[in-house]
Amino acid sequence: MSDDKFDLLVIGGGPGGYVAAIRAAQLGLKVACVDKRDALGGTCLNVGCIPSKALLHASELYEQAEKHLPDFGITVGELKLDLKKMLARKDKTVEELTGGIAFLFKKNKVEHVIGAGAITAAGTVEVAQKGGKKRVLKADNIIIATGSEVSPLPGVTIDGKRVITSTEALSLPKVPKHMVVIGGGVIGLELGSVWRRLGAALTVVEYMPVLLPGMDGEVSKTMARILKKQGMKIKLSTKVTGVEITKSGASVTVEPAAGGDGETIKCDSVLVSVGRRPFTEGLGLEAVGITLNETGRIPVDENFATSAAGIYAIGDVIDGPMLAHKAEDEGYACASNLAGQTGQVNHDVIPSVVYTMPEVAVVGKTEEELKDKDISYKEGRYLYKNTGMGLAFMDEDSFVKVLVGEDDSILGAHIVGPEASTLIHEVALAMANGLKAKAFRELIVAHPALSEVVQRAFLKVS
Ligand code: FAD
Ligand code: NAD
Repeated sequence: MSDDKFDLLVIGGGPGGYVAAIRAAQLGLKVACVDKRDALGGTCLNVGCIPSKALLHASELYEQAEKHLPDFGITVGELKLDLKKMLARKDKTVEELTGGIAFLFKKNKVEHVIGAGAITAAGTVEVAQKGGKKRVLKADNIIIATGSEVSPLPGVTIDGKRVITSTEALSLPKVPKHMVVIGGGVIGLELGSVWRRLGAALTVVEYMPVLLPGMDGEVSKTMARILKKQGMKIKLSTKVTGVEITKSGASVTVEPAAGGDGETIKCDSVLVSVGRRPFTEGLGLEAVGITLNETGRIPVDENFATSAAGIYAIGDVIDGPMLAHKAEDEGYACASNLAGQTGQVNHDVIPSVVYTMPEVAVVGKTEEELKDKDISYKEGRYLYKNTGMGLAFMDEDSFVKVLVGEDDSILGAHIVGPEASTLIHEVALAMANGLKAKAFRELIVAHPALSEVVQRAFLKVS
């Protein structure tokens, strides 16, 4: 086999692509992974999950020290923010992890080809490399894992300084005095929380009547109440009609979504976080006859096969939630299939977490979805503060809510509270394995532990 002929070419080295490439290589295939970035890891490791969580953790420590430790009888001296050091630590975390993927590529003999890949024919990818060089790679199979990019907001110019996306919001050189966040979804609330904790006044402008639209209604309402208490100003059912960049900052004009009198909000930073869209630009899909669906994603069958023979697609670029773990699972399954094994993804049980404080973690159906589908269910709900361990967190609002069907099947779980990102996996594991709610009721749970809150929510449904 020549240097440029592979069994599998993966375009995109994010969580979908790098997992697929490593898995296929471990199963004996000769693999190359093409990515435009020098550093592997895609959006998630470079400008997404990892840097945002590093800053969420650091800023939470700052806020704890500033506002909450005295409640626990801990007094600290003068508090000072060293933003440069905080950002450097975040960058180091990113470097360590992206370097880890490069190490795994070497170890498993996956070739990392740096450059923009375009499919020019079935089995052929042309890579535009630095310095105008071109390399033509051939393979029996190609996996497209090109991910997503920030959705622009029509009429709003992103200059990367005053008006920014999540990428710039991960590296602001100083804390804004007042940040306006357009879009009260996951990114808006996570990165908004970071800068509010570090001292910015924060206004969130959300078009829909709730924050985190699509989540269980009770979760959305509770989060709005909690985040307001934390100091976020939240404007629901409000649309942005324009953003003007001024000498000293920016002016955001807003009006009620249904129409009516507008107002202007002056600020020094505007974060546009109105969603992400699949990225397929320059990929050459037309050369192989692949057409996008109505949401701009690549249509695939249950084996991730596109309409073109030998071309597969996974991750943010296909349907489903834009989540790193969903992309990873699809990469693993798709590569396993291509290497002659059976890979499957259970798309019904994909947990999702918002890393605010408290965290939000959900899996399965919401009450609204069950009502829409006329599925009867019982609700079990328990407050953290009514258990010993929950009380230790001094938290008023946190809860676990479980939704259980007539036959005792587990239909969904919705958690707002500390450690929600860990607790949700108890329910996800049960759902993925078809366990009934009885399994939780009959489980012996260590005392005291936050898992008691989950169990007691299930005990309410018997
Ligand atoms: P990506 O990670 O987007 O990777 C695609 C790669 O393909 C990129 O590196 C790109 O450079 C490359 N590429 C594109 N086109 C080409 C081409 N033609 N040639 C060569 N290379 C190309 N998800 C979670 O589950 N948990 C979180 O906590 C979380 N936090 C997030 C925070 C932020 C701020 C953002 C923006 C996203 C977050 N996400 C999170 C979403 C997560 O990052 C994505 O769902 C995930 O990265 C998708 O993986 P992917 O492999 O499909 O694509
Ligand atoms: P999102 O879809 O979560 O939220 C976008 C929000 O913007 C929605 O609430 C929407 O109603 C609102 N909106 C849209 N147009 C608007 C307008 N003109 N004016 C005001 N509001 C408007 O998208 P996001 O927060 O940008 O995140 C993008 C993706 O990244 C998500 O799909 C998410 O899955 C992923 N992500 C996940 C995590 C995580 O898992 N913790 C973290 C960050 C990002």
